[in-house]
Amino acid sequence: MKKLALLFALLPSLALAQAPNPPVKPELTELWTPVPRKVAPGPVVGQPPSDAVILFNGRDLDNWEAVAGGKADWLVGNGEFVVAPRSGSIQTKEKFGDVQLHVEWMVPVLPAARKGQDRGNSGIFLQGLYEVQVLDTLDNPTYVNGQAGSIYKQYAPLVNAQKPAPAWQSYDIVYTAPRFYGDGSLAEPARMTIFLNGILVQHNVPLLGPTEYRGIPAYKVHGDGVIMLQAHNNEVHYRNLWLRKL
Ligand code: MG
Repeated sequence: MKKLALLFALLPSLALAQAPNPPVKPELTELWTPVPRKVAPGPVVGQPPSDAVILFNGRDLDNWEAVAGGKADWLVGNGEFVVAPRSGSIQTKEKFGDVQLHVEWMVPVLPAARKGQDRGNSGIFLQGLYEVQVLDTLDNPTYVNGQAGSIYKQYAPLVNAQKPAPAWQSYDIVYTAPRFYGDGSLAEPARMTIFLNGILVQHNVPLLGPTEYRGIPAYKVHGDGVIMLQAHNNEVHYRNLWLRKL
């Protein structure tokens, strides 16, 4: 009988415990500040928005210099520029950290004898160190972490999203610079997300270190860096280069 009495004594509090919580007001999870600033998109997707840093104005390479020093000597015309024969790589005069980068590039139609890494080879180096490969690899077998859309010698693209030459190809790259501790050791690796012709080919991958042609990459502490375009003794055209600082 004692047990039964205890149960009846407890019943009201048990019922209370099972009562539904009062409904949460939807306003409690609304954020009203800070208000995102307005950025006007370009008239067509791929054209620079209002807050873009224009890296190439279609007329000259005044924002660029030769990596070896002196003027950028690539050939400008028709709103584009092309790697000059026997010239060296070029880089922006300005240095950058985290960016959203847009680049359009084109490899002309080449004879079938031009194969592998000798078929429109160039590259876009973020902070002068981390290469997104430029190469005509729609139907050109090579190591997959060296084809277009790859982060050279690190990550193959998720898919082959190239158009047939001589179509213009577009890269949209979201780059997060690496972070270092005060003692120079790595806190966070660099990361990249890449769209090739609007198709996702790299999804927030952590970079292993600066691009190395031979051997295993290893991070070394650095700050902001240039955007570099690689001269590889191959004809490659560029146009409509801009970025947004993130
Ligand atoms: Mg290259």
